[in-house]
Amino acid sequence: MPRVGVLALQGDVREHAALLERLGADVLRVRRPEEFTAVDGLLIPGGESSVIDKLARMFGLADPIRAAIRDGMPVFGTCAGLIMLADRLVDAIEGQQTFGGLDVTVRRNAFGRQVDSFEGPVAVPALGDQPVHAAFIRGPVVETVGPEATALATLQDGSVVAVEQGNLLGISFHPEISGETRFHDRFLQRVASRS
Ligand code: GLN
Repeated sequence: MPRVGVLALQGDVREHAALLERLGADVLRVRRPEEFTAVDGLLIPGGESSVIDKLARMFGLADPIRAAIRDGMPVFGTCAGLIMLADRLVDAIEGQQTFGGLDVTVRRNAFGRQVDSFEGPVAVPALGDQPVHAAFIRGPVVETVGPEATALATLQDGSVVAVEQGNLLGISFHPEISGETRFHDRFLQRVASRS
């Protein structure tokens, strides 16, 4: 049984922890470096990336997480979590940092004011023919996918909203509130095959 962490500094921690538990994972909420050393994979939830960044640095988690990503730990980031995994940001706040690892440029709050929250089906061929029911909540968009990363989902207007690179998975939207489990499953498979 893989032991997975949910980064529990800010955001929708509870929903992800419940979903991972439902899928059979042993879940630990990670707030301190000692907790982080006990997990084989990490989920970074949605929330507010600038707050997650500040708290992660304040609690001494940012550097260990960066090192684990370099070392190949499976990490799954949704929404603000995708922002935290991006190597490059557009529209970051002054001084905002990320953990990095995904060779992508991500634009925060990219969907504009009038449509900054919407729900709908998104085709993700890597997960099968059935589209994903995705909820976007002031979500980011992947503006540029570098050569190391692969786009998993692209909206009709060309916006990339899911990317993968080795053991890293990042998506712009929230699957945990629409009952979608395939991304979490994919993440848990990565954790199981590595631990
Ligand atoms: N707008 C948030 C940010 O920039 C992300 C929104 C979310 O995670 N739902 O961090």
